[in-house]
Amino acid sequence: MTPLQQASVAKAQQCIQQASTFFNRPFSLPAINFIQRGKIAGTARLQDWEIRINPILLEENQHTFVNEVIPHEIAHLITFKLYGRVKPHGKEWQGIMNQVFNLPARTTHSFSVESVKGKTFPYRCKCTTHELTVRRHNRVQRKETQYLCRQCQSPLKMVKK
Ligand SMILES: [Zn+2]
Ligand SMILES: [Zn+2]
Repeated sequence: MTPLQQASVAKAQQCIQQASTFFNRPFSLPAINFIQRGKIAGTARLQDWEIRINPILLEENQHTFVNEVIPHEIAHLITFKLYGRVKPHGKEWQGIMNQVFNLPARTTHSFSVESVKGKTFPYRCKCTTHELTVRRHNRVQRKETQYLCRQCQSPLKMVKK
């Protein structure tokens, strides 16, 4: 485990401790796995008592992750344990963020997801530019298909760099 991942686990431990004290009942430390992919910061797997953290975004946004994303996901687990399947960011979850963790109940984070966006290729039709996924781009390159713009009906052509 990297030092940053260790810091994340330590933060999760601290949050679990705070919740246990606040509600006067023990909560166990969830499994913390650094396997979340894509543009998602993290997810809480309620039934599995597990948190999945995006390792790339963690690396790029260390402070926000340790201090906000980890408590955010832990709050989802605690909410589930105490109240069952309520609204994910409803008043129960907000209460835990505010009163137990002393944090604002933010549901979105303001960091850049540029580096984890799926790579795309720019194509042009007669009216605009389209971003094609790698899979679509490869199909065009292999001449398996040609995509048409839904607006202007002209074929999409790759933008030569
Ligand atoms: Zn959430
Ligand atoms: Zn068009």
